[in-house]
Amino acid sequence: MIRPTWLVLALSALLIACSPSTPPTEEHDGEAGHEHSEEGEEAAPLETTISAEAAKAAGIVVAPAGPGIIADEHEVQGLLTPAEGRVAQVTARYPGPIRALRVGVGDSVRLGQALATIESNLSLSDYTVSAPIGGVVMARPATVGMAATEGAMLFEIADLSVLWVDLHIFGTDAGHIEAGAPVTVTRLSDGASAVTTLERVLPGTATASQSTVARATLANPDGRWRPGSAVKARITVDRESVELAVPLTALQTAEDQDVVYVQDEETYHVRPVKLGRRDAERVEILEGLKVGEPVVIEQSFLVKADIEKSTVEEEH
Ligand SMILES: [Zn+2]
Repeated sequence: MIRPTWLVLALSALLIACSPSTPPTEEHDGEAGHEHSEEGEEAAPLETTISAEAAKAAGIVVAPAGPGIIADEHEVQGLLTPAEGRVAQVTARYPGPIRALRVGVGDSVRLGQALATIESNLSLSDYTVSAPIGGVVMARPATVGMAATEGAMLFEIADLSVLWVDLHIFGTDAGHIEAGAPVTVTRLSDGASAVTTLERVLPGTATASQSTVARATLANPDGRWRPGSAVKARITVDRESVELAVPLTALQTAEDQDVVYVQDEETYHVRPVKLGRRDAERVEILEGLKVGEPVVIEQSFLVKADIEKSTVEEEH
């Protein structure tokens, strides 16, 4: 038996202690489950009793096990770049000395905004160089007084309202990652993420990394996605129905075995299970559990802790 007060204390302590220290490793293409090639000795039956009231107070939630969707997801690295066609290099139309520069690196400019005044060597009168696109000034090699030559770059302007995300895919993975796949892109700086769609898989191979590049576009209305910065992304390639799956929150490890907790009224039984494929949310159950059995899907670590606590008490 456990009392609600103990559960409240345990909840705060275990929320830290039991949060997963490492994310589950990516598995796909039918190679899942290799780490469970050996089933251990059948563990001694273990259980605990938690009153309905205490279970409710602790936030323990039970749901019948059933079919689920397991996604084939690939965690990949990527790089943000300005989108092609959204970068403009501004040059002098006529050669001549630069009389004034009106914007600098980092300034936002509107389409048609005056950027510089140049005195034309041909007409000896000043003319204005204006922005061919709206965007942000990325580079300004020009300086006042410098003689602008025809075709020399004065400014580089990039429209960063939409960026490209170039994702690097290695080896055979490229063979089954296709345009249209949903992608969640995450910023390394602050963990913020956005959802987009894979637009295309480029035909070539990136020479330096020997990877295939898959490209998505990313809306950047607030400018917080910065070109040049590295991102991580999760590509959801496929979603497959399985006969039996439980949320990862149902899963615990006891005596080096993967287990779930099956409820029988106020008694919670340890149930070793054999796992199949998994994604970021769910894991397939291959053996040990039947469809319809009531499984603890939230606060399963409290049940685990309660069983371990009673085991220790029995040993003394
Ligand atoms: Zn895959």
